[in-house]
Amino acid sequence: MTILTASRYRVLPHISYKAFSYPGDEEALEALKKIPGVSQLFHWIIDNILEEYFNVSNLYNNVKLGPQNYPRIYAMVEECCQVLDVPMPEVYLTYSPVLNAHTYGVDRTFISIHSSMAESFTEAEMRSIIGHELGHIKAGHVLYKSVAWFILKYLPMLDNFVPFPIAPFMLPMLLAMQEWSRRAEFTCDRAGLLCCQDPEASMSALAKFAGRLDADNGQFSLEALIQQSTEVEEGASKTARLFVALDNLYRTHPYSVLRVKQINDWVSGGAYGRILDGEYPRDVHGEHELGSRIECPGCRKAVNSKLRYCPHCGTGLKKAGPKGSECQQCGTPLPAFTEYCGFCGSAVRGRSSGARQASDSNGAGQAAPGPDAGHSSAAPDSAPDPE
Ligand SMILES: [Zn+2]
Ligand SMILES: [Zn+2]
Ligand SMILES: [Zn+2]
Repeated sequence: MTILTASRYRVLPHISYKAFSYPGDEEALEALKKIPGVSQLFHWIIDNILEEYFNVSNLYNNVKLGPQNYPRIYAMVEECCQVLDVPMPEVYLTYSPVLNAHTYGVDRTFISIHSSMAESFTEAEMRSIIGHELGHIKAGHVLYKSVAWFILKYLPMLDNFVPFPIAPFMLPMLLAMQEWSRRAEFTCDRAGLLCCQDPEASMSALAKFAGRLDADNGQFSLEALIQQSTEVEEGASKTARLFVALDNLYRTHPYSVLRVKQINDWVSGGAYGRILDGEYPRDVHGEHELGSRIECPGCRKAVNSKLRYCPHCGTGLKKAGPKGSECQQCGTPLPAFTEYCGFCGSAVRGRSSGARQASDSNGAGQAAPGPDAGHSSAAPDSAPDPE
């Protein structure tokens, strides 16, 4: 695998996720944000409890990427962050034979990539997976994916403790969230393509979730794979379709062949090309995306850490890198988990004050809590999901 320079890729400064969101994703996200209390509650739980847990769990279980460990993959993530204009998450490799990847955390974001994927995917395919994961951060999906995951996991348990059956009340909400989740995955497949900028590689990565082999010696055709979905549309019986539709209800991810087809349709419809030409809606201050926030010293509002000046009051923002970075007051490099700088005594932002910085963590090899962990229905999450 040769490393490519960022200059080989067109960067998309200030791009908003709205530029590539799949129909229905953005609307559902806006509706979810309006449910009173839910975002705040889950944001608080993730921010105050889970991110630290993810961090520790990741540090104990997985390989953290950086200058010493797999710098080439780490550099790919950095380049993809530049392309999509998204803050850098912490990146881990986790052992698993299942092709998948996950994103989690809200203010402090983490990506874990399964080892099997890093070993078998080409560089362009890896970029499309990484871009898919970054898409979840960019679009702010992670918080709501965590809510869906939580409901799915704890609904049966809650049912035992409550004197009346709650499933009938929760089920419609759960199904609506899964419907949104599948649309969100389509959105992120597009983000993956924007990062690898190679439609064939992007579709090839998704085809591997359907069963494409790594070494197929030219014996595989994307066209034939896409054609399979046309066969269903034209020839499947009503009963078969009903069963498939029922099966689909609970899935977090769309069917793999449909993911390949969706990318093909998006490219041939021209939207992809227009974005690369610079025609896209912008989110200059990164308000839609997750990722690290710093507290503006002027107005105390939490603003995206990638900004140099506060968009609310104009105060210059000192660079506050990811957690385990440097003291914002005196510049001393500080280890993770530092509450106060030992050289100047200032509180480390993001820990003791409102601004949490990104850090790492996650849950080990199993489907991670949260976001993309998508093993739930047959479909590999993002791994594609890049999920
Ligand atoms: Zn400010
Ligand atoms: Zn200091
Ligand atoms: Zn995904």
